[in-house]
Amino acid sequence: MTAETHEFQTEVKQLLDLMIHSLYTNKDVFLRELISNASDALDKIHFEALTDSTLLPEGESVIFVESDPEKRTLTVRDNGIGMTHAEVVENIGTIARSGTKEFASKLKEAKDAEASMELIGQFGVGFYASFMVSDRVELLTRKAGEEHATRWISEGAGTYSIESAERDTCGTSITLHLKEADEEDGLSDYLQEWTQRSIIKKYSDFVTYPIRMEVERTQPALDEEGKPIEGADPVTTTEVETLNSMKAIWARPESEVDEEEYKEFYKHISHDWSDPFSRIVTKLEGTFEASVLLYLPAKAPFDLHFREAKRGIHLYVRRVFIMDDCKDLIPDYLRFVSGVVDAEDLSLNVSREMLQQDRQVKAIRKFIVKKVLDNLKILQNQDQEKYLEFWNEFGAVLKEGFLDPSEKHERILDLLLCESTSSEGSLSTLQDVVERMDEEQDTIYYITASSREAAAGSPHLEIFKQKGIEVIYLTDRVDEVWVERVRPTFKGKKFESVIGENLEIGTEAEREAEEAKRVEQEKGFKDLLGCLQSHLEEDVKEVKLSTRLTDSPACLVSSHGDVPPQLAAAMRQAGQEVPKSKSTMEVNAEHPVLVKLQEIFQENKEDERLSQGAQLIYGQAVLAAGGDLADPAAFSKSVADLMVKAFS
Ligand code: ADP
Repeated sequence: MTAETHEFQTEVKQLLDLMIHSLYTNKDVFLRELISNASDALDKIHFEALTDSTLLPEGESVIFVESDPEKRTLTVRDNGIGMTHAEVVENIGTIARSGTKEFASKLKEAKDAEASMELIGQFGVGFYASFMVSDRVELLTRKAGEEHATRWISEGAGTYSIESAERDTCGTSITLHLKEADEEDGLSDYLQEWTQRSIIKKYSDFVTYPIRMEVERTQPALDEEGKPIEGADPVTTTEVETLNSMKAIWARPESEVDEEEYKEFYKHISHDWSDPFSRIVTKLEGTFEASVLLYLPAKAPFDLHFREAKRGIHLYVRRVFIMDDCKDLIPDYLRFVSGVVDAEDLSLNVSREMLQQDRQVKAIRKFIVKKVLDNLKILQNQDQEKYLEFWNEFGAVLKEGFLDPSEKHERILDLLLCESTSSEGSLSTLQDVVERMDEEQDTIYYITASSREAAAGSPHLEIFKQKGIEVIYLTDRVDEVWVERVRPTFKGKKFESVIGENLEIGTEAEREAEEAKRVEQEKGFKDLLGCLQSHLEEDVKEVKLSTRLTDSPACLVSSHGDVPPQLAAAMRQAGQEVPKSKSTMEVNAEHPVLVKLQEIFQENKEDERLSQGAQLIYGQAVLAAGGDLADPAAFSKSVADLMVKAFS
């Protein structure tokens, strides 16, 4: 087969262009990325070999680093899983990951090279980093179990060529045609043995497969007794040397591992280029034993919200790699955690299907959850600023834990931060909120909204502000779902939505007085309320006078089980069907609009302004609750008509 030329996917082109012209100072990382990929490929073949041992090539699993000074090439070779022709096209010509489009558009917006590189680091572009140091990259790969190999070549400028080829064993060799060294550009001479050696030691020491290289030793010629022979030419021999210690970092005592090693290991397993946010080194002891090393990232990865994205826990059994992306060891709401679990008592032949049932896996998972949540609690107590950084990145994901049936809600409630009517833009814990409230108050009031501004402006808060009762703002998408479904309690206080139909706010005496006033007012308003309702028959089940409004003319209230307007809007946006439900509209008898409508009504019950008024008040109430209007055009036309009348 002759070579075919293919175009890179647009996003890859953009990325390569950045890589080639990159000002990224730490170009050494290209080697770390190639070795990481080689190590992953070896992991994969070992995993496959658990069920089909014929796949594993003879001899040892190894990563070789070779250089050819004359051709100025550097090759990283592994005998791992390799790739088929189709996989090369898919993995190397395109980025098939979810979130790539979003990533590329962010990349376009990035202000400068530094910002771009930070994004790239977050995304983890692995292989493409080679183009920072080379003019041309060649990849020769053969998939385990296949006969033929594939050769891929690119200069990084928009296209690559691909053809059939041969290779002795399965695995991958990646050959870089190195650019000339240029100290000023941060380009070391990667052909130098000591440069390679120090990069590998620094970034890849813990890789669990040997990383080898041929080194030439020149020694004086020795006689049979091992003494130098005078006058004889020195002898040059070639030896193969292993460059990494291969020590499992998680199995070493924490005091013996330095910070840099931990950081590099994080980058190796997470494919993140930035330092981790924090780490947890711990051991499960007792019936089951496991060494556990976990990391929290500093920034949410791009694919955090994509269901099919890889999770970061690697499972080992007695130092032998079993699998990455081990979903059974970590609940979904902690999917941002990465790390290693090395279990003592699991079978080496454990399969993904078996894991789900395994008691030991369940025990480890429980242990990991506890450790992560405990650690976050400690951080929250000790360093609020740092905790806030974490919360801003991952708070919304953590809240998904409320929807996990195996999770204890109180633990997550304890970690929750939110704004409130009393917090002036800063975030409070629920403990803070409880401490601020009256002892007799048995309820934490909340409002769900799409943003703090939308929450703060809601008419439903008027009565709470008047009475000095704090209301917390829940502004993440997931909030509306969990808070309704879980109906949590925190320190004995139940949660209640401010849009609830039968709120009991204030003391009993206050409530009685307000209710009496309302009943009195309603006598005079009864017919108007009926009239408004008749104009809103489609959407409203009842119009009644409110005791909760001071400034706004109207608001919508809902009872438990109703779909509140904001949630309905979000569901519609997501293309979901929303069950049709009517809400109750409360109106403020003292608001000038209502007073005016009452006048109009008394003069002429058929006045068409009554219908228009009803529609407008209702529309406003929907908007204030974060809902969407069934007919926005009609609403805005009505507003415009009104303005014309008011202004003329
Ligand atoms: P990442 O490693 O973060 O997925 P890369 O761009 O480094 O991103 O690699 C893309 C994909 O190419 C990998 O996920 C893997 O499937 C494949 N790949 C890269 N290097 C190798 C290799 N040495 N052996 C087998 N597959 C590889």
